[in-house]
Amino acid sequence: MTEKQNKKQFVRIWVELDMNDVKEHLIISDESLGSCAVCREVGIDIQTAKVCPSCKTEFRYVTAKPRGFQKEVDPKILARIRVKCPHLTIVDWADYDHGQGKTSAREFLKL
Ligand SMILES: [Zn+2]
Repeated sequence: MTEKQNKKQFVRIWVELDMNDVKEHLIISDESLGSCAVCREVGIDIQTAKVCPSCKTEFRYVTAKPRGFQKEVDPKILARIRVKCPHLTIVDWADYDHGQGKTSAREFLKL
């Protein structure tokens, strides 16, 4: 009899989110420190800060930029974020970035 091994990995689950809501409650992680997407405050401890020390934004989402020329964030970085911020929903950088572009274009065109 073979036992099934626990094979955990990160998978993308598609959910519909209001990108304005995401941006209003987002911390952008860079390893152990993060920056607030609202006021751009930097050097925020992603593990302990539940709100932005500067603008008091409540963090509900976290994202990380891919390194260098990589298209996707290293799963090891996602694993570290998961351990440090179990209370936050991880948003893929490309989805966040794309959402911002759409919003900006829409605002620009006054749609
Ligand atoms: Zn802030």
